[in-house]
Amino acid sequence: MFPFQLQVVSIPVKANFRGLKFRELALFEGPAGWSEFSAFTEYNNKESTPWLSASLEAATKPAPKPIRDQIPVNATLPNVKVSEVKQLLAAFAGCTTVKIKINDFISDQDLLVETLKHIPNAKFRLDVNGGWSLAEAVANLKNYEQEFGSLIEYVEQPCIDIADLSILRRSTSIKIAVDESIRKFLGSDLTKLKEVADIAIIKWAPSGGVRSALELIEKIDLPVVISSALDSSVGISHGLSLAAAVPNLYGACGLGTVALLDGDVTSEPLLATSGFMRNRKIIADRVSEFKVAPDRQSWWQDRADVIYEGGLL
Ligand SMILES: [Mg+2]
Repeated sequence: MFPFQLQVVSIPVKANFRGLKFRELALFEGPAGWSEFSAFTEYNNKESTPWLSASLEAATKPAPKPIRDQIPVNATLPNVKVSEVKQLLAAFAGCTTVKIKINDFISDQDLLVETLKHIPNAKFRLDVNGGWSLAEAVANLKNYEQEFGSLIEYVEQPCIDIADLSILRRSTSIKIAVDESIRKFLGSDLTKLKEVADIAIIKWAPSGGVRSALELIEKIDLPVVISSALDSSVGISHGLSLAAAVPNLYGACGLGTVALLDGDVTSEPLLATSGFMRNRKIIADRVSEFKVAPDRQSWWQDRADVIYEGGLL
């Protein structure tokens, strides 16, 4: 059996992020502090295993020694309506790097234009989640480059196929970041990613915890952006522990995302101030406000038990 009693919560989400209206996740407290198991509910047990490993590590082992105490963070803008941009950006105080989830140039260029009205010195990261074919990527990036030039810091996972990324990289001067590719690549030669990308996006939970993430980062040997997965402040604090220990940080990290939630499990949420975040221990003192019904509670506890007993950790 999983050695901890989970406390499952469901937190309302402000904007359409992955189509979620509520973020369901499980919290527990171990000897090293509060931890979070938050593999998305549609993930199967195999895919959720590193998330559970990460949560166990964070609950039982102290974080590695930090090499920085201030982490620069970016604003994260889901694929929202232009009318929602201003209010969402306001929750990312002082952030001038803005990551935007986009579908294409035609429908989403207005999100960048609108952002510039509120953050005139904004730099952009476009996240495509692997949604483009090679031809679509070439065409869309050409347009973005023409319209926004050096304001585009990089495009994140424009295509899913590694061979496509390799060709694309030779046809655009926009830098390419890999996110989904890393998870798909875990079993193969990670050093090859350097041939198709400029930046690696790394997340605490799907990497299996801070320690395995640091090993992964060493193998990939690319500049790194630490990101999150709509975590509560508990998960974010572990992402910050990772970001604080990474030697080759590329720049702003995607850790300000508590701003996308309508509530948090702590009375002192971890949010950006002046474009930066500083890590601290989070006490989950508001869990009872977001508690799920008993059937969801047992779903998560069973899930953790099965994964744990599967011995895959
Ligand atoms: Mg991504």
